[in-house]
Amino acid sequence: MSYRGKSVLVAGAGRSGVAAARFLLSRGARVTLTDIRPRESLEPAVGGLEELAARSGELALELGGHREESFRRSDLVVVSPGIPLSLPLFDASRAAGVPVIAEVELAYRHIEGTLIGITGSNGKTTTTALVAHLASAAGRRCRAAGNIGTPLIRYAEDSAPGDLYAVELSSFQLEAIDTFRPAIGAILNLTPDHLDRYAGFGEYVAAKQRLFMNQVDGDRAVLNADDARTAAMAAAVHSRPVLFSRRRSLERGAFVRGGRVLYRSDDGERDLFPVEAVGLVGAHNLENVLAACAMAILAGIPAEGLEAGVRAFRGVEHRIELVAELDGVRYYNDSKATNVDATAKALESFPGNILLIAGGRDKEGDFASLRPLVRQRVRRLVVIGEAADKLRRALADVTAVSAAGSMEEAVSACRREAGPGDVVLLAPACASFDMFRDYEERGRAFKEAVLAPHRGEEAGRRPGPCEEGFHGL
Ligand code: ADP
Repeated sequence: MSYRGKSVLVAGAGRSGVAAARFLLSRGARVTLTDIRPRESLEPAVGGLEELAARSGELALELGGHREESFRRSDLVVVSPGIPLSLPLFDASRAAGVPVIAEVELAYRHIEGTLIGITGSNGKTTTTALVAHLASAAGRRCRAAGNIGTPLIRYAEDSAPGDLYAVELSSFQLEAIDTFRPAIGAILNLTPDHLDRYAGFGEYVAAKQRLFMNQVDGDRAVLNADDARTAAMAAAVHSRPVLFSRRRSLERGAFVRGGRVLYRSDDGERDLFPVEAVGLVGAHNLENVLAACAMAILAGIPAEGLEAGVRAFRGVEHRIELVAELDGVRYYNDSKATNVDATAKALESFPGNILLIAGGRDKEGDFASLRPLVRQRVRRLVVIGEAADKLRRALADVTAVSAAGSMEEAVSACRREAGPGDVVLLAPACASFDMFRDYEERGRAFKEAVLAPHRGEEAGRRPGPCEEGFHGL
């Protein structure tokens, strides 16, 4: 496919948009890059594109707003993941017969290698990282791409048929695919999420299910047998379903039986490793591991190496990340728990003795739904940020609650009260923007506050997988 002289509008000048623009420029396209943000907040990326355009292609910038005409007049529109397809500007494109595609669709058309597409409501990043980790540990070149960080299009100029790509996909990206066909696709689970952007749950599920729409007979659809909505999709896909379950044995797929992880295919059953090999806490993470192992095996990774790969995987930063064990107290950073459901999953991952730090910017969270778990497992709740009072009102009669004005103060309050065997957990159930730039900055502030008093005392710090019994099974 030639882009030379074609005019392509790239909507969104974030990481994906800039990477798409770069790719298109290098192929000689006339690129218009548009974003509602002004140029100042998009540097130095935009400057870098101008340098490239001096050598190849042509670049026009429409920043600080969009021009409808550009949406109508281009040969192709490439959309960044953060931009809703419901934007009327895209209607103008479609009405003018201009194809509107996602950045991953553009990438798919040019990349060589095997694509593994991973979506779902929760666990995408963790599972994507684990697939890439397992494949790399087996000596395969496997890149994690998509929402996890590096846009897939970045690899388009340097891909080879033997490569694997583990691609984290959101429903927004899937809405704008056309021919994208992962040889292996997985939907991990489906819970109400982002309903602000969909007319209803059905529409959200339909967007996710597009992952499989171009698959054919020889492809594989990896689905969660324990989640009724994903399990039901097995009957609807054109490819071959492969399930995973932590609750029951399966005819085909990855599952747990008698404390062991097994994989069964037409070639028979294979014992992979004991559940204890999973260093990540929480039953939900065991599901992620089952899904990742199924995908790795389907991608041709030898089953023998999976145990070592799983044992070595430490998880992804800010997702129930073990920060340190200090004086017998374990500190976990789950700053990515930005909604009530994720906080519930974090609480379910530990049997009790939790000192929980929660709060931030409320996303209309139903904090009262946490009452049974908090009553059972949380010894103290330290509330922070804008949602502090609402959290206190919802939970003060089921646990001891105190407030803190900063992350340092919150960690200090927990430290004073925690003893050996206890868990200090940051799982805010809220967005971070009232106190921090994003959830990553919040997580780093927590880690800094945990580690600061112990700097130089590395001997007392023991990061690593948790003991048996903390899997919350
Ligand atoms: P995503 O990329 O889908 O947001 P992450 O791996 O970044 O998923 O995890 C986001 C949050 O959800 C974290 O708080 C994490 O502990 C929790 N989580 C991870 N995997 C699962 C799962 N399979 N089911 C439910 N919650 C999960």
